[in-house]
Amino acid sequence: MTTNNVITTDFSRLPLSTELLANLDSLDYKVMTPIQENSLPAILNGKDVLAQAKTGSGKTAAFGIGILHKLDVKTYQTQSLVLCPTRELADQVSKEIRRLARTISNTKIVTLCGGTPMHPQLVSLEHKPHIVVGTPGRILKHLKKGSLNLDSLTVLVLDEADRMLDMGFYDDIMRVINLAPAKRQTLLFSATFSDEMKIVSNSIQKDPTNISIEATHDNLTLQQVFYKIKNATRTNTLISLLKHYHPESSIVFCNRKQQCKELADDLERNGFHALALHGDLEQKERNQVLTRFSNKSSSILVATDVAARGLDVKDLQAVINYELSPDPEIHIHRIGRTGRAGNEGLAISMFTSNELFRIEAIEDYQNNSVTIENISSLKDRDNFKLVPPMVTLSISAGRKNKVRPGDILGALTATTELSGKQIGKIDLFDTLTYVAVERAIADKALKILSQGKIKGRKYRLQILY
Ligand code: ADP
Ligand code: MG
Repeated sequence: MTTNNVITTDFSRLPLSTELLANLDSLDYKVMTPIQENSLPAILNGKDVLAQAKTGSGKTAAFGIGILHKLDVKTYQTQSLVLCPTRELADQVSKEIRRLARTISNTKIVTLCGGTPMHPQLVSLEHKPHIVVGTPGRILKHLKKGSLNLDSLTVLVLDEADRMLDMGFYDDIMRVINLAPAKRQTLLFSATFSDEMKIVSNSIQKDPTNISIEATHDNLTLQQVFYKIKNATRTNTLISLLKHYHPESSIVFCNRKQQCKELADDLERNGFHALALHGDLEQKERNQVLTRFSNKSSSILVATDVAARGLDVKDLQAVINYELSPDPEIHIHRIGRTGRAGNEGLAISMFTSNELFRIEAIEDYQNNSVTIENISSLKDRDNFKLVPPMVTLSISAGRKNKVRPGDILGALTATTELSGKQIGKIDLFDTLTYVAVERAIADKALKILSQGKIKGRKYRLQILY
């Protein structure tokens, strides 16, 4: 993405309030992403929109700006509802809408997801929120209980609609929609398109504007290389690839979750810092894996497509296909996670002679022939070891203990020994906090925390190696 120094942003072509435009500018959203550029005029015009674009293309801001544009903060009624497939994605969406709304005072946004106690949610609904984000099952529960009502709803969003259908939310979604006013704007966002999606759109949208952003990539920023291998040598080849390219941060895609676990273990045994992300993880484990990967304490995330869907991972140097996806569209989605926002990206795929037909399908799909390299060209650069720069400390206190990032940073750097520069991301969860620190100071940081107190109390600490 290009940025320029002129004061007017690309967004200023849209009929948005000056507060919203100024905020977009301060968030460094200088230019619209293609999906925003194509969908926002229709969204702001009040049209129903059926939009498809790859993960990471800025869909949240597209509907988030639409919601805020229409919002009347002086009316204390629920005016917008965003349905998401998982709690994690709902949290991401709430966070993004909150950022977009930060210059509009008194905007109340509430997140309602299953797997969390009802009581705090009921309390948060005592004063009606303007915007509700949540998962279909829990939203339905509140609607039935009467703790939420949609009589004043003007905008309904289905985010990651494809995944919600995959997860079997169809019936719940329809029940929620039956409790919403017929006169409303319905926005359907998805990373992929299917016939089922068309059917859903037909039954819940009126004369929708269809927008599909081609899932092809800018060849200047994404380098795609294929290596032909023998089936038995997959893991060894992967290790050679990592030693040759040594990406600081990479996702390795597998087709099956069992394979994810085994491969992450194999990589660990070979001295790499790898973590597996797959559907069998509990939410808490999943949070830990994603936090350690995104705060640079782990260099490799071994994932299935389903587990990695919708994730916003920044600064990814490489995507490696341990196995090719049977679906060329999924292949394009996988590799689209690297080389974002003008950064250079690398997409590497291994294939066996049995999978040649998949290469052909990819070539057809992207309308371009692929580059095949020989594995003999891979060099183990001076026995290079891939070591992530950070380590994660886990602290048994979180939001519920009223802990703030500043408390942790203070506890670590109040003494002169450590400086703020050596501390990385601090991620807060309900009852846990993960803080990334430079690898070299991990023991020292642990010692400092274990000798001091956070908010006047002692908590359990652990280094996650
Ligand atoms: P999607 O829902 O399409 O997968 P997201 O909405 O999660 O994508 O956006 C991906 C990232 O891009 C987020 O970190 C978001 O803050 C950022 N982003 C969105 N729009 C813009 C923009 N116009 N300029 C710069 N960054 C943007
Ligand atoms: Mg999204």
